[in-house]
Amino acid sequence: MVLAELGSRITQAIQQMNNVTIIDEKALNDCLNEITRALLQSDVSFPLVKEMQTNIKKIVNLRDLAAGHNKRRIIEQAIFNELCKMLDPGKPAFSPKKAKPGVVMFVGLQGAGKTTTCTKYAYYHQKKGYKPALVCADTFRAGAFDQLKQNATKAKIPFYGSYTESDPVKIAVEGVERFKKEKCDLIIVDTSGRHKQEASLFEEMRQVAEATKPDLVIFVMDSSIGQAAFDQAQAFKQTVAVGAVIITKMDGHAKGGGALSAVAATKSPVIFIGTGEHMDEFEVFDVKPFVSRLLG
Ligand code: GDP
Repeated sequence: MVLAELGSRITQAIQQMNNVTIIDEKALNDCLNEITRALLQSDVSFPLVKEMQTNIKKIVNLRDLAAGHNKRRIIEQAIFNELCKMLDPGKPAFSPKKAKPGVVMFVGLQGAGKTTTCTKYAYYHQKKGYKPALVCADTFRAGAFDQLKQNATKAKIPFYGSYTESDPVKIAVEGVERFKKEKCDLIIVDTSGRHKQEASLFEEMRQVAEATKPDLVIFVMDSSIGQAAFDQAQAFKQTVAVGAVIITKMDGHAKGGGALSAVAATKSPVIFIGTGEHMDEFEVFDVKPFVSRLLG
């Protein structure tokens, strides 16, 4: 179910409840059950949906709501708040400071859109007056360095990598050091992604993080991975200190639930979404406008 569809199903469920004369336990349950179904079909993980339902029921205790209270408003507000809460872990992600060297490391499975997103993130900040630089520490995938180099050249962003060196830790450290000397304030390290959550990928990621001491680790996730989102995000979080999430390919047949699950699993906010293959198809992610838009 695409995101817009999820929104309209939720809105419809609320509307349906609004059509009944008296909002009783049954009307509320019907509404919540419909919302639950819509969320599950959008790949939000089951425990998360269950928790949301319990929370809404706690807030909207029909018997305790004094007569005269606007139950509909309260229920609508509770649903809005719960969706916002699901997307907001309560602490903002690190944001780079101008003229202070910041290191940001990107992690994620191969094909998630990591390399593309590194450049988008660098380009976004460059337009805001930062001095970004890109380091290719992906020595696993043939062609990774060329791809980064091409993107970086197009965006006129300095880059570092090697065709011959096979140790990603060495490249990462050298690149970070070089760009610190060059007074870059946003040094972005692209790491390798493998097809599966292999132990070797995680070990390599852990070593790069240990050596470069990033101020922020960004987990890049493809929005179309479905119910696997929660476990995948959690596996990354358990290995490196993920501090933010970027969801890619939101322009395709994206399921909204992946974003909700990734936030829950990493306890980190979504900071941007990717909406296309081009450099500027990249949007800042803001919870409240996002949920408002979702609910129409
Ligand atoms: P990596 O293996 O994680 O580094 O993934 P890449 O950056 O190479 O991206 C894999 C594919 O996804 C490429 O064809 C990208 O152009 C494409 N891609 C990345 N982000 C987006 C996005 O937001 N929308 C769309 N439609 N495609 C994207």
